Amino acid sequence: MQAINIPFNKPYMTGRELWYIAQAHANGHLAGDGQFTKKCHSWLEEHCQTKKALLTHSCTAALEIAAMLINIQPGDEIIMPSYTFVSTANAFALRGGVPVFVDIRQDTLNINEQLIEAAITSKTVAIVPVHYAGVPCDMDTIMQIANRHDLWVIEDAAQGIMSSLNNRPLGSIGHIGCLSFHETKNIISGEGGAILINDPALILRAEILREKGTNRSQFFRGQVDKYTWCDLGSSYLPGELIAAFLWAQMEAADEINKKRLEIWNRYHIEFEQLEQDQMLRRAILMPNSSHNAHMYYLLLNSLKDRSDFIEYLKSKNIFSVFHYVPLHSAPAGLIYGRSHGDLSVTNSHSDRLVRIPLWIGVEEHQAYIIDTIKSFFKGH
Ligand SMILES: *Cc1c(COP(=O)(O)O)cnc(C)c1O
Repeated sequence: MQAINIPFNKPYMTGRELWYIAQAHANGHLAGDGQFTKKCHSWLEEHCQTKKALLTHSCTAALEIAAMLINIQPGDEIIMPSYTFVSTANAFALRGGVPVFVDIRQDTLNINEQLIEAAITSKTVAIVPVHYAGVPCDMDTIMQIANRHDLWVIEDAAQGIMSSLNNRPLGSIGHIGCLSFHETKNIISGEGGAILINDPALILRAEILREKGTNRSQFFRGQVDKYTWCDLGSSYLPGELIAAFLWAQMEAADEINKKRLEIWNRYHIEFEQLEQDQMLRRAILMPNSSHNAHMYYLLLNSLKDRSDFIEYLKSKNIFSVFHYVPLHSAPAGLIYGRSHGDLSVTNSHSDRLVRIPLWIGVEEHQAYIIDTIKSFFKGH
C-alpha cells in the first residue's frame, strides 16, 4: 500500500510563471491590457483561429459577456445540455434568460444535436454547446440548425482549448467561444478565461462590455479623443500579473497537451480489457477531431459501483471525483430553467461517471492507479 496521497488534480506549472510575473512587476503596469495580456490575445487569435480574443477573469465572465452581447432579454430561451457546469446556465439566467435543457448523446456526453430542433420555440435565441472533456460537439449539425432558425451559437469551450473538429479549434466555430483557465483546466492562471469573438460585428461592443461599458479600448488605440460610458458592462479584464502567469502556460501549451495525451492514452489502453469484460465504459471520441486529454473518466455500471469505486480508491490513497449534478434537477435549475423532453441519458450517466487523476506528474503513480482500479474490478 502506497502511503502518499494521490490528489485528483494538481496544477502544473512550467517554471517560468514567476519570471514573467517579475517582468510585469518591473514594467510597472499592473492593471489589465498590458504587454502580457496582448501576448495572450495574439496567441489565442492565432491558435484558436478567432477574429478577436479578450482575456476575462473566468469562463463564467466570458459567458456573461456573451449573454449581454446577444442581448438576452427576460424570457428568452437558450438551449443547452443539463449535463454541464452551472456557469453555462447561470450567465444567461442572470439576464432573465431561460435555460432549456436537452439530453446528451450516449457516446460523447455532449448535447444531442438531434434533439435541439424540437426544443426550439418562438422565444429561442441561442444554442450553447458544451464540449465536454474537450471532445467536440457535432458543430456542423448545430451550426446548420442555428442558421435555419437564425439563432446564436455560443460555444462553452471551457474544457476545449487545443482540441479541434475538422482542423477548426473549439471556440472558433460558433459566433462566440468561451474558454477557462481555471486551475482545473489544461492551461491555467488560477482563475481566468477568455472570450473569442468569431463574428466581427460583435467585436467593438465586446470590448466595451468588458471595460465597464466604456470605449476605453478605442481611446487607447487613438480612435476617439475621450472615453466615456457607452453601454452596459462590468469589469471583466484580469490584471497583468495573471496574464503574465498565463503567458508562461501558453508558451508551453504544446508540451502540456502532449504530456496530458500520453497519460490519457496509457489509461485508455490499460482499461480496454475492463471494457470488454463489461465492467465499465471508456470515453468515446468524435471522428475527424483531436482532443486535449482534458480529463479521464470512466462510466461504471451503477451508482452503487461508483460509490464503492470512489471509496475503494480513497482507501488506497487515490482521489477520484464525480460530477455534475444535472442542472435540470438542481435547486436553481428548477427555478430558472426548464427541461425539454426526457433527460434519461443525462440522469443515468451523471450517476455512473467517475473521473480519475490526470495531471502532469501523475505518471509516476499511474501504474499504481491502474493496478488499484483493476484490483477493484477483480473483487479487490
Ligand atoms: C470550468 C467550466 C466553466 C467555468 O469556468 P470558470 O473559468 O471557472 O468560470 C464553465 N463551463 C464548463 C463546461 C466548465 O468546465
